[in-house]
Amino acid sequence: MKKQEGKFLRKGTHIHPSAVVSDKARIGKGTRVWCFAQIRENAVIGKNCNIGNGVYIDKFVKIGNNVSIHNKSLLYRKVVIEDDVFIGPNVVFVNDKNPRSGTIRNLDKTSWKVEKGASIGASSVIMPDIRIGKCALIGAGSLVTNSVPDHALVYGSPAKIRGFVCECGSRLELKEKDESFCRMSCSKCGKIAQIEISVFSLCE
Ligand SMILES: [Zn+2]
Repeated sequence: MKKQEGKFLRKGTHIHPSAVVSDKARIGKGTRVWCFAQIRENAVIGKNCNIGNGVYIDKFVKIGNNVSIHNKSLLYRKVVIEDDVFIGPNVVFVNDKNPRSGTIRNLDKTSWKVEKGASIGASSVIMPDIRIGKCALIGAGSLVTNSVPDHALVYGSPAKIRGFVCECGSRLELKEKDESFCRMSCSKCGKIAQIEISVFSLCE
């Protein structure tokens, strides 16, 4: 890795000189990495991402394009983030349900997937082995203990399904349903989403 004026460490990216970035990490064009962030070996980050102050990205984390990760969030090994995901400040992906200092833990079986267009609010805690579905929205301060379906709005501790949201972020409203699916529409942009009845019935 070559330093160029102490500011741009790789062509087409902006990496602050105080960030610690492994030579073995891959970072796409247009991505910005801010002060004191650490990016470990074999992490892969796509194009046009924003990696905030103090963010930690562990080995083998995979991040798509146009992803925003705000200050001080912690992404441990095997987190997978798809395109257009928003991760607010102080979000933690917990990698050990039974932590003990002084014993070597095998955490290789832990994994997470955050699917395209999902958003995770500030200071949320995501427990191990969780999938967060497409366009789902996690409210700030949530403790996420179960996987989150596509388009679900969840919040609280533990987080529960409180409604459904469009890819634009506005609430979806129920239009019609049969025994298998319900069709919901966005009052703001008019888009329609189809939600399984078994998921819809979990809404509190
Ligand atoms: Zn919409």
